[in-house]
Amino acid sequence: MQKGKIGVTTENIFPIIKKFLYSDHEIFLRELVSNAVDASQKLKTLANMGEFKGELGDLTIRVKLDKKAKTLTVSDQGIGMTEEEVNKYINQIALSSAEDFLEKYKNQANNIIGHFGLGFYSSFMVSEKVEVITRSYQEGAKAVKWTCDGTPDYQIEEVEKMERGTDIILHIDKESEEFLEESRIDGILHKYCKFLPIAIGFGKKTEWKDGKSVELDEDKIVNNTNPLWTRKPADVKEEDYKAFYKELYPMSEDPLFNIHLNVDYPFNLTGILYFPKIKSNFDIQKNKIQLYSNQVFVTDSVEGIVPEFLTLLHGVLDSPDIPLNVSRSYLQSDSNVKKISSHITKKVADRLQDIFKNDREQFEKKWDDLKLFIVYGMISEEKFYEQASKFALLKNTEGKYFTFEEYEKLIKENQKDKNKTLIYLYTTDTEAQFSYIESARNKGYDVLVMDGHLDMHFINQLETKFKESHFVRVDSDVIEKLIQKDEIRESKLTQEQQDDLKPVFKCKFPDTKANYTVTFESLAETDQPVIITQMEFMRRMKDMSQLGGPMSFYGEMPSSYNVVINSNHPLVTRINEDKEKKCSKELDKLNEKLKPLQDNKAELEKANKDKKEEEIDQADKDRIAELDKKIDEFTGKRQEVLEKFGKENKIVHQLVDIALLSNNMLKGEDLNKFVKRSIELL
Ligand code: ADP
Repeated sequence: MQKGKIGVTTENIFPIIKKFLYSDHEIFLRELVSNAVDASQKLKTLANMGEFKGELGDLTIRVKLDKKAKTLTVSDQGIGMTEEEVNKYINQIALSSAEDFLEKYKNQANNIIGHFGLGFYSSFMVSEKVEVITRSYQEGAKAVKWTCDGTPDYQIEEVEKMERGTDIILHIDKESEEFLEESRIDGILHKYCKFLPIAIGFGKKTEWKDGKSVELDEDKIVNNTNPLWTRKPADVKEEDYKAFYKELYPMSEDPLFNIHLNVDYPFNLTGILYFPKIKSNFDIQKNKIQLYSNQVFVTDSVEGIVPEFLTLLHGVLDSPDIPLNVSRSYLQSDSNVKKISSHITKKVADRLQDIFKNDREQFEKKWDDLKLFIVYGMISEEKFYEQASKFALLKNTEGKYFTFEEYEKLIKENQKDKNKTLIYLYTTDTEAQFSYIESARNKGYDVLVMDGHLDMHFINQLETKFKESHFVRVDSDVIEKLIQKDEIRESKLTQEQQDDLKPVFKCKFPDTKANYTVTFESLAETDQPVIITQMEFMRRMKDMSQLGGPMSFYGEMPSSYNVVINSNHPLVTRINEDKEKKCSKELDKLNEKLKPLQDNKAELEKANKDKKEEEIDQADKDRIAELDKKIDEFTGKRQEVLEKFGKENKIVHQLVDIALLSNNMLKGEDLNKFVKRSIELL
């Protein structure tokens, strides 16, 4: 037997290892099983090269629990180690790199393990003693046993071992007894080793016989040694992708698309990404992508490695080139990682472009589900926008899909206003804004549906990208105003008549927190008689304020609406005639009184027109003030007459209610009254 001291200068390294790696104890098993896999694969390689001529035989790695002895054993039938190699790899290399690690990361409690060759020694996190029994594949090699109890002292001795390979026996310490539980080990193996390339057995298969479960003499294999992403894309069928998706996420619906990544230059990257089908916006789950390094699971929090918007995707990525065991901040600044990240973005865009080109029908069918990912990507990644702008789709109210270019072509002729700005009309709710959509369509305009979660941001982005273009919601003004052309239509009402009708309509609007401004427009006779709109700018600000942030104060402001009266609509003409019939006597009387007052005021003002304020006679000033008071009094009376008329007029009431109704603003008792009044009128 040989005794020695492990070649480390640090007096006692193990307590430090334990402390450093405290947060992630369970990874010791990942490290040991990975070493076993490496040892087995090395043997396979040697066999392929003809350097190992013996039988490879069964290479299954076995994980065994012995609760009584309080041991956990990982056994492989790989290359094994000679005594010399144990000295070199376990005593010197592994430990000296452990020392490097401690030097470098003294103040950083990150889990920086395998990367620095600390893998094997992580077993001391959970063990009071570790034994390595190993026999090299080399002919005539003698088996040795290495023992270490967590002090720098180790022992090495020759032992009997028939088979080639290595057993690592952990004597689990008191604080770590959880690792003697079958379910715990099962869980860890499932998490980290599910796709390792060499079979891993844990326990035996069981079978039901005579009403009880009996153990068979066959290993229960915990992993799939040939996961789909390691195969060539050309050899994989659509069903295989779906089946693999189900294997990864048993509860999920079929995905929309998959992207099989297979890159070997300038770095190594394989993987399969899936676009999941999302039922609602609340359904979005981040961090479903699993990251592997040579089929060893590393993490499922991939922020910083893949672009933010791709964290919404599902699937696996496997790359030995991502420094997987270092801290997140290190990862994010790593140039390799950055390259990989932008490469993934490009691949995703390429694949989408392919699907779009080869099967546009499929692409359109899935667009509504895909849109969220793509729009998110376009908003957050400039590079992705560039690529995606070739296949991203806009959908109109007829359910037709257009690329940006196609859509521009469609509306270019018809939807330019007099300033040559191209106006994109959109709706956020085809039901609620139905009548506005109709009047736009009647003019031959097209209306886009923009009802997605991110569409507000998307529209802002498109406005910065599209030249001389503007997006307006279809209900933000009457259509003539949204796309202003040069031609002017005559109004059937004079300015005076319009002024008189303002209070007639205004008095009917609910006296709530909202502001209503009544204006007249000469629209077509067939257009709506009364239309309520909300300014695009104001509404966008209010919508944004709901998302929080600096715009929040807009949310506090009262809503302002424009009430547009179509001065050419026959019903409006009729109301005007009715008003003349019913009110002209009273109004004429008031006008008779008003006229001399107004004339008088005009005369005085004319006389003083060229004078400065201080040069005007005090008597004149007093007189004008007195006239103003009287004028106000009589105009007030006129207003009362008109409001009285408006309040009693059922058609006015009906028109206002219909306008409110088509904006979804007529509710409760008012709605009820409207219904009753409609029936009466019939
Ligand atoms: P790493 O695996 O990162 O090299 P480890 O500390 O885990 O670092 O292992 C150190 C070395 O010990 C390995 O490189 C390998 O040469 C040897 N080794 C560890 N486990 C085994 C094993 N099961 N069979 C053969 N060699 C092993």
